[in-house]
Amino acid sequence: MLRRTKILATLGPATDAPKILEAIIRAGVDVVRLNFSHGTEEEHRTRVKLVRECATSQGRAIGVLADLQGPKIRTHRFRAGRVFLQEGAPFILDADMAPDAGTVEGVGITYKALPQDVQVGDTLLLDDGRLVLVVEDVIGPQVICRVWVGGELSDKKGINRQGGGLSAPALTHKDREDIRTAAELGVDYLAISFPRSADDVLEARALLRAAGGHGAIVSKIERAEALNDLEGIVKASDAVMIARGDLGVEIGDAELPGVQKRIIRMARDMNRVSITATQMMESMIKNPTPTRAEVLDIANAVMDGTDAVMLSAETAAGSYPVQAVQAMARICLGAERQRETQRSKHRIDSHFESVGEAIAMATMYTANHMDVSAIVALTETGFTPLLMSRIRSGIPIFSLTRHEATRRRVTLYRGVYPVRFDVKYDNPTLVIQDAIDTMLNRGAVREGDLVILTKGDFTGISGRTNVMKIIRVGDPIFPEEQE
Ligand code: PGA
Ligand code: MN
Repeated sequence: MLRRTKILATLGPATDAPKILEAIIRAGVDVVRLNFSHGTEEEHRTRVKLVRECATSQGRAIGVLADLQGPKIRTHRFRAGRVFLQEGAPFILDADMAPDAGTVEGVGITYKALPQDVQVGDTLLLDDGRLVLVVEDVIGPQVICRVWVGGELSDKKGINRQGGGLSAPALTHKDREDIRTAAELGVDYLAISFPRSADDVLEARALLRAAGGHGAIVSKIERAEALNDLEGIVKASDAVMIARGDLGVEIGDAELPGVQKRIIRMARDMNRVSITATQMMESMIKNPTPTRAEVLDIANAVMDGTDAVMLSAETAAGSYPVQAVQAMARICLGAERQRETQRSKHRIDSHFESVGEAIAMATMYTANHMDVSAIVALTETGFTPLLMSRIRSGIPIFSLTRHEATRRRVTLYRGVYPVRFDVKYDNPTLVIQDAIDTMLNRGAVREGDLVILTKGDFTGISGRTNVMKIIRVGDPIFPEEQE
């Protein structure tokens, strides 16, 4: 059985050794994430190069996702690298303080407008909510707080306001530069951090296109405000990430499970892709095996219908990156064996928007109600496989295309597997025979298997899928009417 849920792994110092990178890809990574919050342009460039080499040598398509830092608000640094904040003590967040001058009395901040954005009584959460401050006064550039929940605070930790509402725009100056780098690197996905609205997403897409980038746009849902315009954001994006780290801090952890399920369902219904992210295997940063709670979290995301599950520090900076990927792959497969993950409602009450959607839906309905071994979709852009993969199924969807960019993009789609396929003939019968032979050669189907093949009358033109053919492998293929 092929794993359907895709694994997105963040690269970092722990995966830089070529041997480790090779091993995590072999263990099942489908897409790698470059985290632009850390590392230099040069490091990202080197990582992409290594990934491409690795993918080629393993004969695989591996997607690359560049994740912009966005307006993450952080403290600056402390003179001693860290301080211990006592509960009940005063503490000042100071927009004017030098970046390295923090003490137990206060620290500088990366976001100069914070004093204007907060009000007396606001709750500020530091370091993903580990420390809690309450705003008691704002005097000029200083936000004067009382420590509500104390603890150790080290350099450059995140600051969130409970309930959201900080006005920082989604794309910073650094993000705009990083978009140019992402375009140059030819990344397959660009992730926008902290978008507030569809406009933020559209702007990022326009900037990427202007820089010559072809990548699809991922919106990270991690601000409370984003939930007010969720439909608009999903519609403006190709994919969404449930960025549970920041989102959980802003909306409170109790709201997260419901929101995760709602976002995954909405993405599917709107033909968008979903990624479930953050702390999925947190304990594996230090341990070679996951906790039972982590196992259940991943399995539940799979059962919710997410396209991909993500590893962050587990691979980027953990002690067991390969084991983390292996465990994730194993847990996804286990969850996918449960029948409920394969049962679909098949858009039974929907009106189809296009011929392509009708073909995709008819294919999935047939595949799920017959003994079919594989779906073989001849595609230019990967759009038909995307539509197919919005329907729950246990049957693999092979995406046959000559375009490398398409092969890399579909790496994120649940249940879709990229296959290189050049159209070598004008005669449609020969093209179909060649596609079936390609599948036979890969060992993906066997003589006697039933497969469903989809294509356009005019192979090579995008958006024209209008043929669905049920084929018994090994039987002669009869000519369609000639074009
Ligand atoms: P980050 O985003 O890891 O870039 O913060 C993910 C999240 O907030 O969950
Ligand atoms: Mn985040």
